[in-house]
Amino acid sequence: MIKYNLTCKCKCTFDSWFASSGEFGRLMKKKLITCIECNSNNVSKSIMAPNVSSSKKIDNVNCKFQKNIKKKIIEYQKFIKENCKYVGDRFAQEARSIHYDKKETKSIYGRVTTDEIDELNEEGIETITIPWYDKTEN
Ligand SMILES: [Zn+2]
Repeated sequence: MIKYNLTCKCKCTFDSWFASSGEFGRLMKKKLITCIECNSNNVSKSIMAPNVSSSKKIDNVNCKFQKNIKKKIIEYQKFIKENCKYVGDRFAQEARSIHYDKKETKSIYGRVTTDEIDELNEEGIETITIPWYDKTEN
């Protein structure tokens, strides 16, 4: 486990634990690391926090904590899959059509770029970004 101190463009700083620096890089690349304050994925690593994993107990607690988060996210994913319509790369388009045409519809989920999220936010269309685990990962 490795702890990084992260800084968001909103000036918020927070600590986050990762399995390894490689894992961090992978999540960063996929833009899966989001700010705890504004939910933006425009975060960057600031300084590396001092190693505080001196006791095994702390490590275990953090591992459990991470596992719980992942479990919650996977539950949430399941809920989304069951209750929302998957629109793939057409998310921005579909979100607009719901917003402007006042279509009566199920919630949707899909892939969207950060630019598109910014645009949607500017237009007053709310989106929620959550980390997404692939089934192949464990
Ligand atoms: Zn932020």
